[in-house]
Amino acid sequence: MSDLNLILLGPPGAGKGTQAQRLAKDFELPHYATGDILRQAVDDGTELGKQAKPIMDSGGLVPDDIITGVIGERIASSEAADGFILDGFPRTIPQAEALDVLLERLGRRIFAVMLIDTPDEEVIKRISGRRFSKKTGQIYNIHFDPPKHEGRCDVDGSELVQRDDDRPEVVSDRLATYHAQTAPLIDYYDQRGLLRRFDGTRSVTEVHDHIRATLATLRLEEGI
Ligand code: AMP
Repeated sequence: MSDLNLILLGPPGAGKGTQAQRLAKDFELPHYATGDILRQAVDDGTELGKQAKPIMDSGGLVPDDIITGVIGERIASSEAADGFILDGFPRTIPQAEALDVLLERLGRRIFAVMLIDTPDEEVIKRISGRRFSKKTGQIYNIHFDPPKHEGRCDVDGSELVQRDDDRPEVVSDRLATYHAQTAPLIDYYDQRGLLRRFDGTRSVTEVHDHIRATLATLRLEEGI
């Protein structure tokens, strides 16, 4: 028996957060999004937030040891005992190596890494329209997936806002960071036979269905 430890990989705007939210519901697993954790820390004015804010605003990455500590606590918590969904972590080879060490210590392993492949042009288009609710975490796109009432979350009517780092001048730096530091993880996980690829240009529902079908097959094969 193995637990369902899943990683979502892909460029910013690929739909990792949206898919992670759906999968978290499907499998009743905790969803750990390092970007959300950091944004919350910024809003709360914590030390972590103060340190992360200028880095996030420039499209760079928070130091590996800091983010690894943040995620390590959560993975080891009791709510993650049956599995977890990681969204936005790992983002560098050292983070992936640190995750391997953390999991090995816990006697666990990664079940699958799901790459949501999305070309840069599509990412840029999507990010310009992305809005979210700080209260519910729900993500919308004013062009492709608008809320029922403009500027308001469907769940509770809370205000929809744009992320500071979704401004066009930061997006190209985030994409450059992705290609330089995160894309090498594709090979890292492919070489271990853990990588599964999904076409991020498909609709949210199509990508979700494809991921679920893939996970169902893998679980049958592995007997979990
Ligand atoms: P995201 O919401 O995943 O796009 O993350 C927003 C920003 O938070 C990134 O551009 C980074 O500055 C920072 N961040 C999120 N996850 C990580 C990570 N695993 N390592 C370093 N920085 C991160």
